[in-house]
Amino acid sequence: LADRQILRWLKEPFSPWHMDEMWLVIAATNRREVNRQVFEEATRRRLFCNVVDDPELSSFVMPSIVDRSPLLVAISSAGQAPVLARLLREQLEALLPHHLGKLAEFAGRWRERVKARLPASARRGFWERLLGADRLGQALERCDDAAATRLAEQLLDEQASARRGEVVLVGAGPGDPGLLTLHALRHLQQADVVIYDRLVSKEVLALVRRDAHQLFVGKERSHHSVPQDEINQRLVEEARQGHKVVRLKGGDPFIFGRGGEELEALIGSGIGFQVIPGITAASGCSAYAGIPLTHRDHAQSVRFVSIHGKEGAIELNWRALCEPKQTLVFYMGLSLCPLISEQLQHAGMPANMPVALIERGTTPAQRVISGTLEQLPSLAEGVASPALIMVGSVVTLGQKLAWFGHSSPPINPAAAS
Ligand code: SAH
Repeated sequence: LADRQILRWLKEPFSPWHMDEMWLVIAATNRREVNRQVFEEATRRRLFCNVVDDPELSSFVMPSIVDRSPLLVAISSAGQAPVLARLLREQLEALLPHHLGKLAEFAGRWRERVKARLPASARRGFWERLLGADRLGQALERCDDAAATRLAEQLLDEQASARRGEVVLVGAGPGDPGLLTLHALRHLQQADVVIYDRLVSKEVLALVRRDAHQLFVGKERSHHSVPQDEINQRLVEEARQGHKVVRLKGGDPFIFGRGGEELEALIGSGIGFQVIPGITAASGCSAYAGIPLTHRDHAQSVRFVSIHGKEGAIELNWRALCEPKQTLVFYMGLSLCPLISEQLQHAGMPANMPVALIERGTTPAQRVISGTLEQLPSLAEGVASPALIMVGSVVTLGQKLAWFGHSSPPINPAAAS
């Protein structure tokens, strides 16, 4: 390099003037004393300095990089674990396709055109569609610039003429953010507006795109809630403004979530929608309480029950709920435990049928309280909402299978001895 005059080689001991007019300093001598002098002089001059393999004498470190220029991923362990950084780099190398650089470059060439053609609110949608399109990656990989350009033009035309918002009804699961689906996560990160209610945990909300507008529509069955008509109206308005609206609901949107009613309003207004299922409270609580919903020795079927009908009327066939070999799961039943206990016994269910109340299932605050049908009203005292009521002999399995919140696996006394 020196011969080709790409770098200047001064064969002489270090002297401070070497740093005159420099931006950055790297010291790689094999004498720590000299390295220290270099570091101190650089610090005095407020120049960033890296002493090779000596994080203590460095004001910057050089990360491992995955180079897909112009896209660059840097991994640094701040000098603590270079090997770990390297291992991670190897994994990312394998993970990130080689055409990413071309993709970034292609996007760069289109930026100005997209800006000129689309209003700010429509651009992100365009980029997400374009950069997420497998066809684009494939075209760039085989250096088919014409095909890539055609695709970009087509999507740009579509976006410019369509400009229609949509609503995605997303199930947020029962609380633990790890129970979101990949689709749910993707939509949360692409949303312009997120409309959510009480059951959605703050850990899930933390995954929403930071610039998205978040709108709380309140508690169910309380005076502070936004009436359903207004929610429907709001969904329509936001979508009409071209926004990508995520309607986020606890559990699964189609299980006691009024998801169906909201979609009917959208259809009436000609707005497009998608539905992303979520883990319903019964599944989440069942798993995290170690109480299987079905089990060949206990239950061949399971019923999800809400006591509230549309007009608030109680219109249940209690006798059918007492059929043998089934598990009952009551949603929104906490304040109705006396009624549930009484009606089921009245319809013929034994007073000693096992029951469990699961409070704030799947969250770190989960509590499982079990007893018998007869005891249900007193068990419910002191239990907070949201809570689920499970009725059936499967409940007894919870004693053996409970794992969540336990530091070690359940012990089988027979196997342990
Ligand atoms: N769509 C939701 C249910 C909405 S109804 C779903 O699929 O789960 C609201 C009821 O769900 C609450 O009254 C409670 O009975 C139940 N629920 C929701 N989240 C819960 C949780 N984390 N733990 C226990 N019960 C829960």
